Amino acid sequence: RSFKDFNLSEEIANALDSLKYENPTEVQSKVIPLVLEKIDLVVKSQTGSGKTASFGIPICDMIDWKENKPQALILTPTRELAVQVKEDITNIGRFKRIKASAVYGKQPFAIQKTELKQKTHVVVGTPGRVLDHIERGTLALERISYLVIDEADEMLNMGFIEQVEAIITKLPTNRVTMLFSATLPEQVKNLSLKYMKAPIDIEI
Ligand code: AMP
Repeated sequence: RSFKDFNLSEEIANALDSLKYENPTEVQSKVIPLVLEKIDLVVKSQTGSGKTASFGIPICDMIDWKENKPQALILTPTRELAVQVKEDITNIGRFKRIKASAVYGKQPFAIQKTELKQKTHVVVGTPGRVLDHIERGTLALERISYLVIDEADEMLNMGFIEQVEAIITKLPTNRVTMLFSATLPEQVKNLSLKYMKAPIDIEI
């Protein structure tokens, strides 16, 4: 398979060239076409497989630049992963001028509040701080069309599953949901049963 098979917009294809991503990895070959068709996915895969770009590429492709409110929400278990995913999205979306913001604990709330007031297409964050922004009215959810739950098993290990659920229940139901996890314990499977629409299971 080649990235050309996915009919990505020129801006995204050029960004992949400049990142020297020549061919899709296995997870990217499977995930990208399904996300472009707006199908919910449960993806069992490890880090290092190229999973970030597997959701980052189709999300960046489908973002409407003109919309001022966030269109994609990506939940991660750690601040480090949030920052990394934000950087990857920024790189993939660079020629489309896609703006990604990261929100996480231990950085002053006010800095993030100011950033979220600017145009932001993609918000990446840890569950506690994302909930904080939602509850204080600094993160608009009404245009969220894409939700990614990254490293869902780590969310569970760190005791974040209830916060993840609280966030999901506040999102528009007309959205695409993608769940990524290295393992699929019962409570992670439950999330997919409760909040996803006929998800397709992908195992790498
Ligand atoms: P990830 O699994 O998302 O943490 O990605 C692992 C590494 O692979 C990152 O350094 C990516 O920049 C890189 N990568 C992702 N997709 C590709 C690709 N199609 N070709 C080459 N490198 C890639």
